[in-house]
Amino acid sequence: MKRLKWLFQPVLIFVVAQVSWALLMTVWIRWYVTRNREIDDLLSRYSLKEGFGTGQWVVLVEGCLLMAIILVGLYIIFASLRKQTKLNKLQDSILSNVTHELKTPLASIRLYCETMLLRDLTREEQKKFLKRALSESERLQKLIDTVLISARMSSEASQNDFERIRAMDAFDLSWKKILERFGDQRQFELHFDSHIPQEDLYILGNVHQLSIVFDNLLDNSVKYTDKGGVVRAKVSSSSQFIKFEIFDNGMGIEKGNLKRVFRRFFRAEKTSVKKVQGSGLGLYVCQTTIKAHQGKIFATSDGSGKGSHFHVELPRQTADY
Ligand code: ADP
Repeated sequence: MKRLKWLFQPVLIFVVAQVSWALLMTVWIRWYVTRNREIDDLLSRYSLKEGFGTGQWVVLVEGCLLMAIILVGLYIIFASLRKQTKLNKLQDSILSNVTHELKTPLASIRLYCETMLLRDLTREEQKKFLKRALSESERLQKLIDTVLISARMSSEASQNDFERIRAMDAFDLSWKKILERFGDQRQFELHFDSHIPQEDLYILGNVHQLSIVFDNLLDNSVKYTDKGGVVRAKVSSSSQFIKFEIFDNGMGIEKGNLKRVFRRFFRAEKTSVKKVQGSGLGLYVCQTTIKAHQGKIFATSDGSGKGSHFHVELPRQTADY
């Protein structure tokens, strides 16, 4: 029975049902047309045609129309069932991915607290453990924020809180944070490549939302790069756009995954193999936020092991108001 399980796949059943309907329609129409001709011949032979109208074609058209309505209805039911199935799978994925991600920092915090309670530690050691617990709690906070934001975003991406802001305000916040946390573990370089002064680069947006985008991109460039790796950022501008680019020389992204990385819960296989922690939500949040800002975000990479390059383009606000 198990071997025949594939026969009961909804997609297969749907396709077979559709083909059956189409065949039934063809056979029926052919039968109808042949019978009609035969009757016509018969009527002509006995010169009875005068008394018969052509109304029978209406029945055929009506039949075809009703059949088409049934087919469309079936398709709609099938599409909504598939959507529901996908949503269920997504929910399972949220549970397994996020639960795991929540448990790990919690377990670390607990361990640090227990160690401090049970062992006599020097002031220096205490500080070290407290710092680690703090960093784990920050990670936890970030994950919760990302999950909440992504849940909110799937229903609507709001532009309500947008105002005229300096483009560099959001970026600087994230850049400072990443330098504070990983300045001693990676090499960071920032290039500002614009003939327009930083203070004059304005966009319509939300500093908090944009800094979450840059936080995610910079965090990833550290996460997916080995210790000692290089993270470069470049800010440039044209008359219409302000462009932020983040490069790293880490594990890179395979060609086939360059678009997929922005999907909700997508994580490249080698990411899990290398045991890099993550929820697969960060880039989804980035893409939704940048789209809400009428901008563009995309990734390029020369392939596995050859580093990644993330591009963010935001429309420049030129006129004062
Ligand atoms: P997370 O990092 O939590 O898994 P993201 O949505 O931020 O989720 O990223 C999705 C996936 O894209 C990651 O799992 C990883 O496979 C890939 N990725 C993102 N940024 C980089 C990068 N800088 N270098 C290599 N791979 C990356």
